[in-house]
Amino acid sequence: MIKCIYSRPVLPRYLLLRMMGTSASRAVVGGQANLPPASLDFTDPGAFKVKSWTELLRALGVFCFCSFPTLVNNSMKLMTVTRTVLGRRAFSFIVRPTIYSQFVAGENETQISESMDKMKRLGLRPMLAVPIEEDLGESIGEKRYDDNMDAMLECVKMSHSNSWSAEPMMQLKITALISADLCVKITKIIAQQPFDLNQVVRAMDGEKITFPGLDDAELAHFSFGLQRLNKIAEASVNKVRVLVDAEYTYMNPALSVVTMAMMKKFNRDSAWIWNTYQCYLKESRSLLLEALNLSQKEGFCLGVKLVRGAYMDKERKLAEKEGRPDPIHKCWEDTNDSYNSSLDMMLKAISQQPQRYKIIVASHNEESVKLAVTWMDELGIDRGGESVCFGQLLGMCDHVSLTLAKEGYAIYKSVPYGSIDDTLPYLVRRAQENRTILRGIRKERDLMKQELKRRLGLRRSSS
Ligand SMILES: Cc1cc2nc3c(=O)[nH]c(=O)nc-3n(C[C@H](O)[C@H](O)[C@H](O)COP(=O)(O)OP(=O)(O)OC[C@H]3O[C@@H](n4cnc5c(N)ncnc54)[C@H](O)[C@@H]3O)c2cc1C
Repeated sequence: MIKCIYSRPVLPRYLLLRMMGTSASRAVVGGQANLPPASLDFTDPGAFKVKSWTELLRALGVFCFCSFPTLVNNSMKLMTVTRTVLGRRAFSFIVRPTIYSQFVAGENETQISESMDKMKRLGLRPMLAVPIEEDLGESIGEKRYDDNMDAMLECVKMSHSNSWSAEPMMQLKITALISADLCVKITKIIAQQPFDLNQVVRAMDGEKITFPGLDDAELAHFSFGLQRLNKIAEASVNKVRVLVDAEYTYMNPALSVVTMAMMKKFNRDSAWIWNTYQCYLKESRSLLLEALNLSQKEGFCLGVKLVRGAYMDKERKLAEKEGRPDPIHKCWEDTNDSYNSSLDMMLKAISQQPQRYKIIVASHNEESVKLAVTWMDELGIDRGGESVCFGQLLGMCDHVSLTLAKEGYAIYKSVPYGSIDDTLPYLVRRAQENRTILRGIRKERDLMKQELKRRLGLRRSSS
């Protein structure tokens, strides 16, 4: 058997040149190159006609709260104090109809179904996300990871068994199934020595794994974690596409190894397992090239979630503290260039082999969305096809999502669900990570205000 040694990025020259050729053929520098099709208008408040009064007023109130950085930064403390002072019931009475309803689909299958049916009527597709995650030093016992696996298996079932969307998708966080501390250790090990990807694939079926530098307890946990992931992947193949999240640079290489092993095992005929590429990282383009290269060499299909990246502040602070170079591009424009050139690379690959490659343009950035749409047109990629789709977070940038849906593009909303207790810490983390977008939701707020004025007869309808 050919031994697949996966080491970090050594790209064959032919592939590098081919990919560079594709992006050089378009003006992507500075990014916002071509004009969008005239029909994609993100300034039309008419997108919000489908929203009820309650939804409009709630969104306005929540966005107003989120526009104060001090409130967002201290939201966990604020909520803990409010819950202590008011008690759990009164706290829930305030939070449930506001922040919770804005960003969370519900607590049980009935509530989630209601939200999903509504979404379906608006032409939006759900991408369910179980709100569990772990950072360094938060390691939990094996039993808890098994419970997390059960929650994810339930998520696969819910995503598949309900007819909420064609091509159902869900998000998966590997650190909910394998300890973050172990992922950090594996990241350090593979930075120094190559490893056998086939061994990781075989360990998913329970074969004993040997990994230099890990002790017996760590090997046992790694093996259990891989088997948990195997169960989820087996349950989802041919049913639900599983999009693995990218997290921090100090653990991402380990997450990628595990994801690549899953891809190698399960993506033979189609991309059921996808990986995430964070374009704020200086190395993101070479990581994507490396993945394209590996997928060709190993004969698996590649699914890509393309994001700018959510952990910029923490990554920078950590790099500074540890005295190493900042892994993030030096400015937003460089991140844009990186996003656009990766987008260009993937769209080109998709236009040539739509069965092998898939992408979700997971961004709230209107220019990125317009660029993707323009390039899809140029390359003749079908907007209703399943190779290119778009993604935004539930409760955010609905003017972009609804406009895309109206024009027939496949658009997914990332949808967390669960109890208030389970989802609030997740929401607080997301809000703090996405501070830049929350500060920039002024446009969405203005469009909603215009729609409210139209309903109150204070402004003539644009339609
Ligand atoms: C469906 C979905 C799934 C997601 N999954 C993940 C995931 O797995 N992992 C993850 O990390 N994020 C994930 N995200 C979050 C995503 O990274 C953020 O939503 C994103 O960073 C915001 O970028 P934007 O393109 O939406 O908005 P924009 O406002 O265009 O961009 C803001 C982003 O640009 C970058 N940026 C801002 N200022 C600078 C600067 N000075 N220098 C360099 N870069 C800068 C940062 O990444 C910042 O978040 C996901 C988002 C969605 C919608």
